[in-house]
Amino acid sequence: MRRIFDDEHEQFRESVNGFLTREAVPRTEEWEAAGIIDRPFWRAAAAQGYVGFAAPEELGGAGLDDFRFNAVLDEEVVRTGAVTDAFGLTNDILIPYLLDLTNEDQRERWVPGVTDGSIVPAVAMSEPGTGSDLRGIASTARWDGDVWRLSGSKTFITSGIQADLVVVAARAIRDGVDGLGLFVVPATADGFTRGRKLDKIGRRAQDTAELFFQDVAVPEEDVLGDPGKGLRYLMLNLPQERLSMAVSAVAGAERALAITLDYVKERNAFGRPVGSFQANKFALAEIATELRVARVFVDHAIEEHVAGRLTADDAAGAKLWTTELEWKTVDLCLQLHGGYGYMEEYEIARMWRNARVQRIYGGTSEIMKEIVGRSLGL
Ligand SMILES: Cc1cc2nc3c(=O)[nH]c(=O)nc-3n(C[C@H](O)[C@H](O)[C@H](O)COP(=O)(O)OP(=O)(O)OC[C@H]3O[C@@H](n4cnc5c(N)ncnc54)[C@H](O)[C@@H]3O)c2cc1C
Repeated sequence: MRRIFDDEHEQFRESVNGFLTREAVPRTEEWEAAGIIDRPFWRAAAAQGYVGFAAPEELGGAGLDDFRFNAVLDEEVVRTGAVTDAFGLTNDILIPYLLDLTNEDQRERWVPGVTDGSIVPAVAMSEPGTGSDLRGIASTARWDGDVWRLSGSKTFITSGIQADLVVVAARAIRDGVDGLGLFVVPATADGFTRGRKLDKIGRRAQDTAELFFQDVAVPEEDVLGDPGKGLRYLMLNLPQERLSMAVSAVAGAERALAITLDYVKERNAFGRPVGSFQANKFALAEIATELRVARVFVDHAIEEHVAGRLTADDAAGAKLWTTELEWKTVDLCLQLHGGYGYMEEYEIARMWRNARVQRIYGGTSEIMKEIVGRSLGL
């Protein structure tokens, strides 16, 4: 029994679940083999109102600026097994940048395309030489008197192969400006190129790429907010990004437990269901209990976020706890499937490969501990 949602959220859940079950789930293997999810699917999702719904109606959204809708969508993606990070990336990470840091002209140029699915956005912070340490970003944007000239390399960029618009973090170099800036680059810009589609061990349907920028001209009107304050903007948005991962982690772990309970009741060894051995029963009882605790914890974090009270260290703690628990859960669940757990045709195999990155992207578990540690005055 969850108390944070009302009827509107539950209706949204039903509609998202139906859409993903019909349109995404049957195509999982095709998309994983291709390493990319096709545009018609994304446009269909946008047409249903699942992309950028926090934007106001005049920009193609639904004015649903309530993270509980984001959470519902994140949960249903995991529960149905629809293999995409694009909803979380767009709704939970990029839309806040495009709504909160933009002026009217920028919003009108970019947001309607995102909400109708014609513009796939991406955010490029990580580089070959730095990921955890954003202060180490080496890409530069140098003001040449007319425009910013952006140069550098980015890697691990989600939706990088498909992206039409990339929000790029780079060191802004101009008199009186010191710090990171967020520069918006259309994929048609001269000097922008994509590298190869990266070959990942999980989340194979989601394209991930290297991106290169060589002297790309970025006009002043394509800068988000103040060019020296990029790090602050990133820090402001990271709590929602991390909460989104915590939401997916708990939903993923719950799903893994549910399918494993079915399995261990059916599968026999030594004349008994494998779930009836005390070692397994106890292991599952511990995980089930930890998941109940995690569910309450994450629902509380969602409530705090909706009320505008979720702090950076709360979000870091939520990501840390839930993604570590998700990993522990999927690993136990795979183990309890025996050899079948290692076979691609079993859902738990895909869940296991997909879960691993949750402890890495959006800030690693070690960095989450750093953030929580700092909040303790250490
Ligand atoms: C599938 C995938 C999708 C991604 N999507 C995006 C995206 O869309 N946009 C984007 O910008 N980035 C993206 N990333 C990048 C991701 O955010 C980084 O990989 C992550 O932040 C870690 O950075 P790194 O890989 O450079 O590791 P490093 O920073 O090199 O870290 C290596 C190891 O050192 C540890 N470490 C580092 N600093 C400390 C410390 N102070 N104390 C203790 N340990 C430490 C880390 O925890 C890690 O274990 C994605 C990554 C993956 C794998």
